Order: sequence, then C-alpha cells, then structure tokens
Amino acid sequence: MPPATPTPAEKSFTRILAISRLNGWSVIIIASLASVLALFMGDLVGLSVGVLAVVSGWMELKGRRLLKKRDAWGMRWLVRAELLLLAVLSCYAIRGLVSFDAGYVKDELLPKAREMSQLLGVSLDDVLHSSNMTEAKLLSLVRLTFITVYGTVLLVTLLYQGGMVFYYRRKTEGVANLLYVQAAPQRWERPMPPPPAPTIYKLRPTKSPFAIDSNFTPQSIIIKKRDGGSLSREEIDFFAQGVCTGRFADYQASALLMAICWRGLSPQETSWLTDAMLRSGEIMDLSTITGKKVDKHSTGGVGDKVSLILAPLAAACGLKVPMMSGRGLGHTGGTLDKLEAIPGFRVMLSPAEFRFMLDKVGCAMIGQTDKIVPADKKLYALRDVTGTVDCLPLICASIMSKKLAEGIDSLVLDVKFGRGAFMKTKAQAGELARAMVEIGRSSGKTVRALLTGMDQPLGRAVGHSTEVIEAIECLKGRGPADLMEVTYALAAHMLILGGVAPTENEARTKLALAIANGSALKLFRDMCAAQGGDHKVVDDYKLLPTAKTMLEIKAPANAAGFIGEVDALQCGAVIMELGGGRTAVTDKVDFAVGLSDLIKVGEPVAPGTRLCTLHFNDEAKGARAEALLRDAIKFSPTTPRLEPLVQDLIQ
Ligand code: URA
Repeated sequence: MPPATPTPAEKSFTRILAISRLNGWSVIIIASLASVLALFMGDLVGLSVGVLAVVSGWMELKGRRLLKKRDAWGMRWLVRAELLLLAVLSCYAIRGLVSFDAGYVKDELLPKAREMSQLLGVSLDDVLHSSNMTEAKLLSLVRLTFITVYGTVLLVTLLYQGGMVFYYRRKTEGVANLLYVQAAPQRWERPMPPPPAPTIYKLRPTKSPFAIDSNFTPQSIIIKKRDGGSLSREEIDFFAQGVCTGRFADYQASALLMAICWRGLSPQETSWLTDAMLRSGEIMDLSTITGKKVDKHSTGGVGDKVSLILAPLAAACGLKVPMMSGRGLGHTGGTLDKLEAIPGFRVMLSPAEFRFMLDKVGCAMIGQTDKIVPADKKLYALRDVTGTVDCLPLICASIMSKKLAEGIDSLVLDVKFGRGAFMKTKAQAGELARAMVEIGRSSGKTVRALLTGMDQPLGRAVGHSTEVIEAIECLKGRGPADLMEVTYALAAHMLILGGVAPTENEARTKLALAIANGSALKLFRDMCAAQGGDHKVVDDYKLLPTAKTMLEIKAPANAAGFIGEVDALQCGAVIMELGGGRTAVTDKVDFAVGLSDLIKVGEPVAPGTRLCTLHFNDEAKGARAEALLRDAIKFSPTTPRLEPLVQDLIQ
C-alpha cells in the first residue's frame, strides 16, 4: 500500500517538532557556554542569566514532548512559564545594561583583566603602552563593545525566544489541539473492564450479555407485540442485538417500534429494553477520573439548546460533565447536530478520548457510537423517520441506556411537556419522569427530574447555527430570561447532586459567577478546541454556517395587543420545512437555516413589530416556512397568563 500523504495539519505538526528540537538544543548549548564563561569571570549575574537560559532551552524540549503527546493543556502552561522566564531574563538584561557603567569597567573588569593577563604571563599595562592606548580610551572602547555586543545578543535572543513563544501559542491553539484528541495518548487508555451486570428494577441480570434463543425470528417478535403480547427478556435482548448485527433489518426494527408505540411496554419490558440497549456496547468506567460525574438530559424540545450552555457552565463550577446526546428527533433539534454546526467539531469520540476530555477539560459532548450504546444509535435514527418518537417506553429506554453507559454518578432530567414536547400533558411527563428516576435508582444512580413547559420555543432562536449563537450569548451573560431560567434550575440541581453547592441559592450564585467571570465561556472554548471545533466562532459568529437570506417577518397591519401563542410544534415544522431536520435517515441537515429574534408570548405587538428573522437558503422553502411561522404566532387582546416554566421536581 502506498504511504498515506500527510495532511497539512500533520506536516505543520512535524515542522513544529523539528523547530522545537533545534531551538531547545541551540539555546541549551549557547547558554551553557555563556554560563561557563560567566563562572570563569566570577560574574554571578551573568551566571544566573545563563542558568535561566539553559532552563528555557530545557523547557523547549519538554514542550516538544508535551506537543508530541498532544497535551495542549501542558503546552499552554509551559508557554505561560516561558513567558514568565522571558520577563525575568529581560529584567536581568536591562539591569545588566544599566549597571555596566565606566565605574564597573574600571573597578571590576580592568583589575580582573590584569589578573588574567598575569596568569597568561603577559602584562596588560605593557600591552597598552606598546599599542599607544591610554586606560581611559581602553575603558570607553570596552564599554562600547560590551554594550553593543551584549545589547545585540540580548535583543536577538529576546526577539527570537519571544517569537518562538508566540509561535507555539498560535500553533498549540490550532494544530496541537486539533490533533491531540484525534490520537489520544496511550497513557490515558485503560483496558475496558468487562461490562458490569446492571441491576435495573432489581432484576437478576442475564448470565451473558445476550442470551439468545436461536428459534426467535424478527417477525415472531413483531407479531407478538402487534397482538398485544408481553415480550420476554430474551426476545428483547434478541431485538437489541439483532438491530446492531443486522439480523433485525431496518424495516423489521421499524415495524416492532411501531408495534411498541401502539401496544406499549410494561415497566418490566421497559427496564429489560433499557438494559439490553445499555449492554449493546461498552459501559464507560470513569472511576479513575476525580470529581463527581453529573449529567443532564432533556426529553427534547424546540429551541432547547440548554446542554450547550449547561455542560461548560456546570464544569466551570467544578463538576465533571460526561454528556452523551442525540441528534434531531422528530420536530425537535438535537444537541449533536447543533454542535456539528461548529466547523470541525467532532462528536464521535472513542471511549479513551471521552475520558481524556473529561479529565482535562471537565466536560465532553458526544453521541452514541458503534462502541457506546450502538442499539440506541440505530433505533434513534429509525424512530426519527418512522413516526415512533413520542412513545414513553422508547424515550425512557433511549435516554436511560445512554445515561447509564456514560459512567455517571448522578443525573438531572429535563422532562418537557406541552405543544412542542413529546409528552403533551404534565401527567404524561410525570409518568415518564418517574419511570426514568426509578430505572436510575435501581442502577445505583441519583436521579432528579424537573418537569418544564414547552409550549413555545425556549429562547429566541431555533435551528443550528442560530442556536449555537444564542448559547454563546448566554455564556457571555446575554441570554434570554426563559432559557436562563431553565438552565439555572437544571444546573443548580446538578451542583447539589455533585456536592458542589448545598442549597439551590448557593448553586445559583456559583453559576451566575461562572458566567460573570467568563470561566464558563472559556470552558466552552476549550471544549470546542479539544473536540476539533473552531473555537473562534465564540468571537466571530460569521464562521458558523450562514444562510443566504435573512428575512425579517413583521406583524401584519391588523396586529394589536400581545403575543398570545408561539406554537413550538409549528416552529419545529418551520425548521423541518427549511431543511433543518431529517425526513430520511441519510438526509443532510442544513445547519444555516433557522429562526432568530423570535418574539415571546406576552410581548406587546403592533403593526410592523418584528416577529422573528427567518434564515433560509431556498426561496420556495422560505416562502412556505414564512406561512407556517405566521400560523404559529397568535395575537391576544389581553396579556396571556404565563405558567411558570419549571413546574415540578421528581426524585
Ligand atoms: N432524547 C433521547 O435521547 N431519546 C429520546 O427518545 C428522546 C429524547
């Protein structure tokens, strides 16, 4: 096989390593020679400068090793230390230049030169005399030579070393960050222990991961469920395994999903399905990572970009947040798709990369892979395009299998209800929340669920790029009130479960501080860079996919009073219409399309008031989406009654 051509990033990386080695060794050799000379001359200041310069060269070589290991955090600290060293060297240099006056030359240097010339058997005075040179002339000549040579060497060294430091800064941000996650170092790799047998609903775990009766056929299981029968644990295992191995074809899996939607699953079957999906892949062991591992998961809504804000926010407050999310499902957007709107962002990390991220950054946001809950990866994608999303046992098994596979200590669930949610009523949401809390508890995890309203979209943006921008704005302290309310409520429970704050009030204070002092935003940046994404999107939103047309939708001439309704389900349909969702598993999502500046229920309206900005790439789709959107927004002559967004806590 011909050798693979190195990518530009790899070439650049090799170049940095070569430059780094050359720089390190040349600094060490030159500085060592200078130190020996200074020692010989008895010049203590010179000696300490020389030693510091040797340390600087050693740091360079150390940096090379860190770079090789793709340890961007280590590099960052090293660059900081090099800057400090450079500052100290500059101070020494300036002090040396200033103190090198005529008195020093006369009283210190000249006697030393006399001593040395005597040692060599020569008389300095004779040399001066024979060369017709007075002592004063010699002094000014020595002084001038010293200042010129010393000053030039120092200037060149400082410029060179300073340039190197900034070169590394730039490169470690770019190349090293990009590369190190792609090739996580071996020392963070730990062999995966065999998956522990989970106990869910206090069941006796099966002896082997999948105890399959070979007499099962996909159709026999489909027919059994279609006719209202109860599936055995083995049949459910056969289904989860068959989905991963291809024994259950996509159309058969879809048929069974539909049968489950119609006939339901008992709590027992639901827990077996969760268990089977969980064991379809690896179960993460995060026990070697210090800190409490706490995650949150939402059952899905429109404009729900809470995870993007909350993961770095909770991590900035001291938690480890291992977050495994999903793609868009039905009319709701998915965290993974939103993250992928950030150029280069990789959501498919290996278990080793995931652990590495958690340890070094504090949070990681990934998707189901062929290794981690592959059964959910497959079923999730099928449910999205087969009308089998809004089904309590399927949602429960999908969420809890992912969460239990993450290796978390605790979990906070955002169970949404209302027009834009899969659970239309609070009662249904309560039932789903209780089922998930119970499954979590029986697996030894602390789980809390908040029931939150989803009648109108959360925040003022819906889509992918538009939601990423809104999430970054929240981290900059400029988030819309409703979005921040839900984020703070969920994050506060995470901090309490993680033992970072004893009360909700204290948790909220910590969260507000992490936003105010920029640490949450910095974590978001770090997470982006470490997962290969372009973290510069934080400062320049134009780096995100942008739609060709942005159209302001204005209220019609008969508009008056207040906004009475912004139908979240219909807003989800607008995004689907624009190409921001999937109608087939293989569909590509258009990250650029969406809504921004969306008006909220209760806000005053008059003819010409901006209702929202529509982002689209296709004129015909834009026109259809506008009609759908106008239909989604209703006016009210009086202020509508606004229910609290966060309604109940289930634990
Ligand atoms: N989130 C998930 O991960 N799965 C679902 O089924 C719904 C929301």
